[in-house]
Amino acid sequence: MLKITNLTASVDGTPILKGINLEVKPGEVVAIMGPNGSGKSTLSKVLAGHPDYEVTGGEAELDGESLLELEPEERAHKGVFLAFQYPVAIPGVSTATFMKESVNAVRRAQGKEELDARNFLIEARAKMKLVDMNPELLKRSLNEGFSGGEKKRNEIFQMSMLEPKLAILDETDSGLDIDALRIVSEGVNHMRAPDRAIVVITHYQRLLEHIVPDRTYVLRDGKIVLEGGKELALELEKHGYKWVDEQLATAEA
Ligand code: ADP
Ligand code: MG
Repeated sequence: MLKITNLTASVDGTPILKGINLEVKPGEVVAIMGPNGSGKSTLSKVLAGHPDYEVTGGEAELDGESLLELEPEERAHKGVFLAFQYPVAIPGVSTATFMKESVNAVRRAQGKEELDARNFLIEARAKMKLVDMNPELLKRSLNEGFSGGEKKRNEIFQMSMLEPKLAILDETDSGLDIDALRIVSEGVNHMRAPDRAIVVITHYQRLLEHIVPDRTYVLRDGKIVLEGGKELALELEKHGYKWVDEQLATAEA
């Protein structure tokens, strides 16, 4: 479903991603871990098409079609969803309006019928319930004054409304309290589906106690340096990222 080949990218002329190779199959949940500054957020932003990040080489394909030439909204229309590490607030635009427009933009692009106000509300209420989100938040400006947990719930709510083919969740490394952790994990587990790929980006293993990944990749200095199953995340938690360096040194010797 997602295939990344030799992907390199720079910010302000500084190379950050230095040749990423990664394949995520339909139905899989893949974890990307790595120390701070290793390029995790950069990878997610490059996939989403953030304008500050310049792709200097390689390829990223969704179902055999290159994502890199597409505008961010076209990527969304094709079913790419990115939950940001720091969700943006949009004063003056209600959560309901934002969500309805987003969902319908994707539905239009995919040739599906748009949701009218009534059907949108029915679906939104059902999905908000799943993430234990206060329905009153629909009336408020998007993310404005939302608590950390409310923002996370809102992200997961958005994801479940958009029903993406490929979901990439870039988690905050700190500040994810137990409550938010549970919401995100339950939301992701609920979204697991045979025709959907999910990439969970996290600094800590904690999240992966709740979301058990099919595979774990470790990013370091813009490259994937280790690959393993769910047990790799546990090893990392136990030994820390210094252990990765030792593993690599042993492998080279
Ligand atoms: P991670 O999410 O793994 O902590 P990031 O992808 O955020 O890492 O950052 C990787 C490197 O790229 C860091 O050295 C960071 O300073 C740099 N970087 C990321 N985004 C920008 C930006 N917009 N401008 C300048 N440098 C950036
Ligand atoms: Mg990050």
